[in-house]
Amino acid sequence: MQGKTILGHPTGLFVLFFTEMWERFSFYGMRAILVLYLTAETTKDNPGLGWTSKEALALYGWYTMMVYFMGIFGGYIADNWLGQKKTVLLGGIFIIFGQFSLAIEGSTTFYAGLILLVSGVGLLKPNISTMVGSLYKTGDSRRDSGFTIFYIGINIGAVLAPLIVGFYGPEVNWYLGFSLAGFGMILGQLVYVFGKNHLKGVGDLLKHSEENKHLLDKPLTKIEKDRMVVMFISFLIVMFFWAAYEQAGGLMNLYARDKIDRVVFGWEIPTAFFQSLHAIYVVILGAPMAYFWVKWRDSGKEASSVFKMGVGSIIMSLGFVALMGAAYELSEGALEKAPVYWLFLSYFLHVVAELSLSPVALSFITKLAPLKYAGLMMGTYFAVVGLGNKAAGLLGEAAQDAGEMAIFTGIAVTSLGLGLLVLLFLKKLNSLAHGAEDVNPKVAFVEPE
Ligand code: GLN
Repeated sequence: MQGKTILGHPTGLFVLFFTEMWERFSFYGMRAILVLYLTAETTKDNPGLGWTSKEALALYGWYTMMVYFMGIFGGYIADNWLGQKKTVLLGGIFIIFGQFSLAIEGSTTFYAGLILLVSGVGLLKPNISTMVGSLYKTGDSRRDSGFTIFYIGINIGAVLAPLIVGFYGPEVNWYLGFSLAGFGMILGQLVYVFGKNHLKGVGDLLKHSEENKHLLDKPLTKIEKDRMVVMFISFLIVMFFWAAYEQAGGLMNLYARDKIDRVVFGWEIPTAFFQSLHAIYVVILGAPMAYFWVKWRDSGKEASSVFKMGVGSIIMSLGFVALMGAAYELSEGALEKAPVYWLFLSYFLHVVAELSLSPVALSFITKLAPLKYAGLMMGTYFAVVGLGNKAAGLLGEAAQDAGEMAIFTGIAVTSLGLGLLVLLFLKKLNSLAHGAEDVNPKVAFVEPE
């Protein structure tokens, strides 16, 4: 039976789309104001905590790492105790309490809020991603485009958050900002709870059901082990990728502020605008890129996930070549600040790279992971993202001594090298996946009863 679909995808995809859109609104909203709140003077009308930039950035670094790192525990809990569906619900509750805890003045509520958020995102983020994969049967060719649609939802939340939370927090009241982030998550929970009928049979606990007992007791087969190997290699690519990409919030942010001429038609683009640029590009480019890859595959060309990840790495490298262009123009000495088009071009290339790699990697994991470790593997993926975030901060710090040109060049060369290595070993890597990506377009989607 062909279940109900929207845009050719199961309705459940859109339940997860809007849930995650609001969760990301909450996440990116809070993230947009955290450092500003920490460093705002205590004597102002809307007083902050008066921390130094260094202290604030250190906390920020730990927070952005931990928030993803906790995905390992979120995945483990889903596999072993709750199933993904309930774990996502629990995560959402933690996040709501976390945001409102931040919205109450005081250091106890502040730290309690951070701990609740780190745990909540750890419970929710990997598991909602795994659930997207579970909407599609093995071999269903719509899985990758489903992940791209989901990814667009993520980024709509990410575009809106800095505009709303990022405005009301600093301009009106920090605690109102955190509350708005909390309300965002409440909306996400409502979508999830009211949409649960479209998620029947998706994200349930495998462990205790009799019919799945055989899956859990058995040791991994050779094929499953090989697939784990490809997955761990993908993790490595992903870690470098996010270490490069997340320069946006740190080094590239400061570079935009201090070394780029942001005046366009007589108006100076605020530095903070560039923090939304990734997400804006994803929303604009998401559908055309997905379309491009489908056409590419249908014309019989190489379109494995590993290939796309390699290509993503190479395009990321080009994004840093664009930044090298800016640094080069400055080093010539004729200009005081570099032209802004380098920055637009660099962000554009980062997003083309991201769309080749990130939704693809999420989808790939759901194809490769043994069912009993589905949550844990997705959790490990996000833990790796967390390490990438931390590495990004360390690279940014290193730039303070080494100079931007050295760091931009280092990242460009490393991403290029990694991408080329992947393409060089493509056959071998694909063979280790043992046909996990074989597409059988005749497989019809069956909405779970
Ligand atoms: N921007 C995406 C999100 O928030 C990617 C995050 C990640 O995987 N680093 O989900």
